Amino acid sequence: MNDAAGGGQTDRVRVLVVDDDVLLRRSLQLLLTRAGYEVRQAEDGQAAWDLIQREPIHFVITDWNMPLMNGPQLVSRIRTTAFPSYVYVILLTVHSQKLDTIQGLLAGADDYLTKPFDLDELRARIAIGVRILGLEASLMRSVASAAELAMRDSLTGLFNRRAFDNRLSEELQRAVRYERPLSLLMIDIDHFKRYNDQHGHPQGDVLLRELSGLLLGCIRGTDFVARYGGEEFAVILPETSPSHALAVANTLLERVRAHPLPLRETQPGGALTVSIGIAGHSPNRPNADRLVQAADQALYQAKGAGRNRLVAV
Ligand code: GH3
Ligand code: MG
Ligand code: MG
Repeated sequence: MNDAAGGGQTDRVRVLVVDDDVLLRRSLQLLLTRAGYEVRQAEDGQAAWDLIQREPIHFVITDWNMPLMNGPQLVSRIRTTAFPSYVYVILLTVHSQKLDTIQGLLAGADDYLTKPFDLDELRARIAIGVRILGLEASLMRSVASAAELAMRDSLTGLFNRRAFDNRLSEELQRAVRYERPLSLLMIDIDHFKRYNDQHGHPQGDVLLRELSGLLLGCIRGTDFVARYGGEEFAVILPETSPSHALAVANTLLERVRAHPLPLRETQPGGALTVSIGIAGHSPNRPNADRLVQAADQALYQAKGAGRNRLVAV
């Protein structure tokens, strides 16, 4: 109920009580702890701000008048700073005039209560805040999973072309900046049209999935494999010189050829094979397009030379 994410996560909602009145802090601490929240205290806005920098706080209940930094100042600080998740703020105030309330809300408070407050009302208002935090957390999870989905190929679960483009330009920037090697493999299934024609498109899909799993199993955690399109895959090998990339590609070639992929015996030569083009990052291939172009040309040469082989350029 009092999870930070409104359910599912084990983190409890952490509430920060900010007031220069120690008795009020203590009584709120007691009330909130009994209600199942994790509670922190601060005696003024500045101490609260320092604490918020040090540990995650989901909820702030703050007094208005305090030395050093007052409630509205604290709220506007919180609102102009990026936190991993939303911080819900209730302002406690003796200022009962409407104008003060508006000022507090404009500073970024979500709610306010006028002192002396009714405990049941405070409990109810905290429950509203926790509900809103839960909604925000589930929205964030949806956004994160949508972003993850947008980077994946739906058939194979591998990263897709979009993710590949992003990653390659990131890795290339790093390689250029730190003068590190980087290699790229373009892998294309041999005679895949024939496989599809013989066994049907759904069986072709099965093969693409199996081969994807096989490729994933052959690379290191720092390497990056994507479905570039159709029956073509791309592997980014950071920190890998062309000669090392050649060895990686050779292993891939061997493993694919040796793996008992379904119905491979119907393919030319009795095995399902791939061709691989390899290109290393170098000053005359200054950007991702040029590097991909080079690996593609190498792949084309591997095809022309009879398939089931690799060519490095
Ligand atoms: P090569 O050895 O020269 O690469 O010949 P190939 O037959 O593999 O190449 P080609 O480009 O002629 O044919 C590629 C085939 O890949 C044709 C297309 O239908 C198939 N293909 C592309 N995407 C998918 C897919 O998602 N599922 C299935 N089943 N087939 C696909
Ligand atoms: Mg092909
Ligand atoms: Mg192709």
